[in-house]
Amino acid sequence: MKKRGLIERLEHEPVICAEGFLFEAERRGYLASGEFVPELALENPEALKNIHIDFQHAGSDVVEAFTYNGHREKMRVIGKEDLLEPLNRAALRIAKEVADNPGTEKEKNLLAGNISNTNIWDTKDKVKQNEVRSMFAEMVGWSVDEGADFVVGKTFYYAEEAYTALDEIKKSGLPAVLTISPMGENIMRDGVSVVDTCKELEQRGADVVGMNCFRGPNTMFPYLEKIRKAVKCHMAALPIPFRTTEKQPTFFNLNDTNGCTCPSPHGRTFPTALDPLYCNRYEIADFAKKAHALGINYLGVCCGAAPMHIREVAEAIGREVPASRYREKMSNHFMYGTNERIPQHIRDYGDKA
Ligand SMILES: [Zn+2]
Repeated sequence: MKKRGLIERLEHEPVICAEGFLFEAERRGYLASGEFVPELALENPEALKNIHIDFQHAGSDVVEAFTYNGHREKMRVIGKEDLLEPLNRAALRIAKEVADNPGTEKEKNLLAGNISNTNIWDTKDKVKQNEVRSMFAEMVGWSVDEGADFVVGKTFYYAEEAYTALDEIKKSGLPAVLTISPMGENIMRDGVSVVDTCKELEQRGADVVGMNCFRGPNTMFPYLEKIRKAVKCHMAALPIPFRTTEKQPTFFNLNDTNGCTCPSPHGRTFPTALDPLYCNRYEIADFAKKAHALGINYLGVCCGAAPMHIREVAEAIGREVPASRYREKMSNHFMYGTNERIPQHIRDYGDKA
């Protein structure tokens, strides 16, 4: 079967992209929370491959190489700069292997390279800015080498850093997906508005612009509506699956007001005690449906996403995916089911259970 490119797909239908692998790898026991370095590409390649396979099974059309935070600066922080290139290449190769094997008679998945926020961007420091640019350039280069179909630049909270990422992706000639992640002040840290940043990214040639991470559906959607009115290009929406609020728009300062008796030792719910603040799957499906209706064709869920959330996105836009085989079947539940074999006295007890 012919493999279509990203833009060709987006012209005709939504493209689903799973991401947020930091949280999923951590939950599976292969990554340290807080430090958040995707070392599993080298240390536990099978575990990383399984994550990709599970999201593919749930309906992701893209296998995004897990190189988030796998940049030179972060590798210096953990004292393993020598592993930078091996880690990037391993992550890309593992992703490619999964992308190329979606199952019999299925179109191959797209392989996405990934660059992201470096956390050293400084609006006043040209030297640092050049350092960031070269970090992007080397990662985009490895993505091209390993056969990426497009490159995602994501989680930027400085507008200029996002523009720099776009610039480096454009040099490769590959399609560019740029998603930004404003912090709780609801503006990019260099003072540019969310909408203006997206407009500028479109002007500078991004193929897809939008938002990912930090914000749940509630605090991302209002911005998506504004961006949709301001840009003509394809748009992306990949929220976190947590119940962020107007007062606490991101998961960094989200309080647990749900009767928590053991707060985290580091004093905040982010990133290890967010569990009670999860959106349920119906909220994720509702978000995907609304975003799609708005004309947003690049859809996914970021940090916190389990494969089940991606299946919800897929089904919300009318797809049947392999994991749909296991969607809920309450009809056969032992107490709440409607199956004729469920004894009446067990059914009657349901409200007291
Ligand atoms: Zn994320």
